[in-house]
Amino acid sequence: MPSYDALLRELRSQTPEVDVQGLSTQLGKVAVIDCREADEHTQGAIPGAVWIPRGFLEARIEKTVNDRGAPIIIYCASGNRSLFAQRTLAELGYTNVKSLAGGFTAWKRAGLAWEMPPSLRPDQETRYSRHTLLPEVGVAGQQKLLAAKVVCIGAGGLGSPSSMYLAAAGIGTLGMIDDDVVDASNLQRQILHGTDRLATNKVDSAERTLKNLNPDVRVEKHRTRITSQNAIDLLGRYDVIIDGADNFATRYLVNDVALKLGKPVIHASIFRFEGQITVFPGNGSPCYRCLYPQPPPPEDAPSCAEGGVLGVLPGIMGVLQATEAIKLVLGLGDSLAGRLLVYDALKTRFRELKLRRDPKCPTCGDGVDRSAIELVDYEQFCAGPRH
Ligand SMILES: [Zn+2]
Repeated sequence: MPSYDALLRELRSQTPEVDVQGLSTQLGKVAVIDCREADEHTQGAIPGAVWIPRGFLEARIEKTVNDRGAPIIIYCASGNRSLFAQRTLAELGYTNVKSLAGGFTAWKRAGLAWEMPPSLRPDQETRYSRHTLLPEVGVAGQQKLLAAKVVCIGAGGLGSPSSMYLAAAGIGTLGMIDDDVVDASNLQRQILHGTDRLATNKVDSAERTLKNLNPDVRVEKHRTRITSQNAIDLLGRYDVIIDGADNFATRYLVNDVALKLGKPVIHASIFRFEGQITVFPGNGSPCYRCLYPQPPPPEDAPSCAEGGVLGVLPGIMGVLQATEAIKLVLGLGDSLAGRLLVYDALKTRFRELKLRRDPKCPTCGDGVDRSAIELVDYEQFCAGPRH
């Protein structure tokens, strides 16, 4: 068996290397892989490098570089471990991998720019480890979640599961808008609240539950109803709007304000055994008024007292809303923009309908100046049970 030194010499003679100056001229043009361990990586890294610890190289390289012929430069601390990493990549069929001679030490010594990778506090590392283990999220993604501001309209049936999962996920700022107090008839589905919170303001009860789930989260309480007067101010400070409103008047107002502000709305509604969800994207097409240009007359809407809802239904729809919000913040996957997902709890069936932008839509149609949209306070009437 060859000694480590002999093996290293042999590998070095077979492996193409690049020096730090060579890499500095290729930054942004080639995939740069940092194969060091976590404690080394957190001390500083080459800008734009993708960190894949040596032990995860085989498992994760395909997600970063799929093309086996693409140029890759791999580095470690001093340029030895990267030789072994290069051999691993060659065994996986990668044909154009170079090792950085002298590694990160040589890079720093040459006075080239480096950066501190995003990091989490030790307690956050533990709390969010199941996120950061996902290469699609990682520490950088968790930082995005912690920096994100999401607002839930309503701390009721939909707002309960959505805000709880968003808080658990580490969304840094959560706005809760609700002017109601907790009633015993809410507890069948509004899991933010409990029997010990009866007659408490819903936003106060929500804050207690969310802070207990995750003290990292700043809960901003808005004990009010959205009106044309306060809507811009209330929603303008958030990145993503979760619409869990229980009435048409609020839905139209939220739609119109979001278009004015260019913010995405994750819209859901529930009725009896059926739920619907879609995303109205920040650029606003299609929007809620493409679906329903004007509110129906109040006499056509089911009365508040008559409507019932299966308690678990808002749970499912609210969790879907939280999922869409997290995807938007992380820039992951395909959102529900342009698609209406309908869930039938009795048949346990999801259907998907295509939503099209209406060129004649009063708020996002051709030639509409969105900044000039006038906000309307429609008469409040129920669209099913209070969520
Ligand atoms: Zn529209």
